[in-house]
Amino acid sequence: MFDCESAEWWYCSSAESFRTVARSQSDESKRYEVRLDRQSHKYTDEKSLDWSCTCPAYEYQCGPHRKHRYCKHIKKAQDSDAFCGWQQMRDGDTPEFDENATAHCPECGRQAKTSTNGAPQ
Ligand SMILES: [Zn+2]
Ligand SMILES: [Zn+2]
Repeated sequence: MFDCESAEWWYCSSAESFRTVARSQSDESKRYEVRLDRQSHKYTDEKSLDWSCTCPAYEYQCGPHRKHRYCKHIKKAQDSDAFCGWQQMRDGDTPEFDENATAHCPECGRQAKTSTNGAPQ
């Protein structure tokens, strides 16, 4: 069993900070910014890390007292190949180390971080 209380585990840096641009389906010229971070979302009381989007749907339909938690752009970003979000505790596998002893995510090659630096969730 994995003891997540005391054991050190790794996660992809995308699991704690991610940003992408989504295109509006109704207006091709519109772009929205989808973010995973600690500042931009509406759940700052409940959970420090969460998703947000700059579209009207997120602004008016998502949030702690609204019907939805995420807009469609966020869901799409979560499912996209660009977003990795690997966490060793949940997904298994081990980070890969380069010649400088820097850890990299086994899924996407981004830098990996350890839970001792502050776990993403
Ligand atoms: Zn959106
Ligand atoms: Zn990754």
